Amino acid sequence: MLENKGQQRTDISSLGEFGLIEHLTKSFEIKQPSTIKGIGDDAAVIAVENELVVSTDMLVEGVHFDMSYMPLKHLGYKSVVVNLSDIYAMNALPTQITVSIAVSNRFPVEALEELYAGIQAAAHHYNVDVVGGDTTSSLSGLVISITALGQVTQEKAVYRSGAKENDLIVVSGDLGAAYLGLQILEREKQVFKVNPNSQPDLEPYSYLIERQLKPEARKDIPALLKELGVQPTSMIDISDGLSSETIHICKQSKKGCNIYEDKIPLDPQVITTCEEFNMDSTTIALNGGEDYELLFTISSDDYPKIKANPSLTVIGHITQESEGTHLITRANTKIPLIARGWNPLQEQETE
Ligand code: ADP
Ligand code: MG
Repeated sequence: MLENKGQQRTDISSLGEFGLIEHLTKSFEIKQPSTIKGIGDDAAVIAVENELVVSTDMLVEGVHFDMSYMPLKHLGYKSVVVNLSDIYAMNALPTQITVSIAVSNRFPVEALEELYAGIQAAAHHYNVDVVGGDTTSSLSGLVISITALGQVTQEKAVYRSGAKENDLIVVSGDLGAAYLGLQILEREKQVFKVNPNSQPDLEPYSYLIERQLKPEARKDIPALLKELGVQPTSMIDISDGLSSETIHICKQSKKGCNIYEDKIPLDPQVITTCEEFNMDSTTIALNGGEDYELLFTISSDDYPKIKANPSLTVIGHITQESEGTHLITRANTKIPLIARGWNPLQEQETE
């Protein structure tokens, strides 16, 4: 699908390493005042006024993404988004990223242009500067590692460890859609293998597929909380599923929790698709992953400030550690949360 007929195919080696970097990054602009030196020297130089927040994520072809349904431009965009999501989860503002790639000569320059177009689009949307990276060769697949830098004042930084007993547990947006999007894309890939002429109607799944292929980081949430005058007591982004992330907060805060099944926010497409595939939407929301929503706790005194907000849902509350971490089902039974998560390593181990 990437190697369309008639499309140009320039060999990476024809540009050389420096030529390639220059070619891919020449149109990148520096917009952040804190970027003193970006691409082109031995290291980037960043001015730091507050606490510096740093996060890295690595994406490996065949483990984290499948090139047969992930267009490279989307992959570039998503690689940036997953990193920025971690910076927002610290209640920080991302300012710079570095981009490292390992690529085999199976990729033409045009493919990397697509990847970098996605990276640039995300950098533009989130107002971060691309200030460096590394380029190396790989024997087979594509590997992308992005490091995001951000800043936050000491008082505003939010950790996983700050939840207090009786705090409310709040989540942004809705859950489970990205996982279902992946299931749809996997299914279509199998159908396509059997019948390359099939024309799937993906319209009923448009939101799910968008959440999988073009996720966004919740840059609006730290800004919204600031505007509402709410300082979260703890926060995490949801990359591995609600269950696993809730347990992280509880473990690090040395607390327990009750999450209410009927409060978990679901998009209508998640509900109808779960019905169609005979899946349990709660299980999908708890374990699906890749939602990139923010999960945080707030003092119950702050409830009036957030209760009318359509982007935020209170799904439970923090308890004493000895009470454990539980889901209260619609039938009012209490079942322990299990961190099954979406963990590629775990999947391999159990295979
Ligand atoms: P060095 O050999 O000193 O590590 P490189 O030749 O790897 O330098 O990189 C030269 C410049 O290009 C540096 O500023 C580096 O950060 C940047 N750079 C290298 N690869 C990439 C990339 N894939 N994306 C963005 N910038 C890159
Ligand atoms: Mg280098």
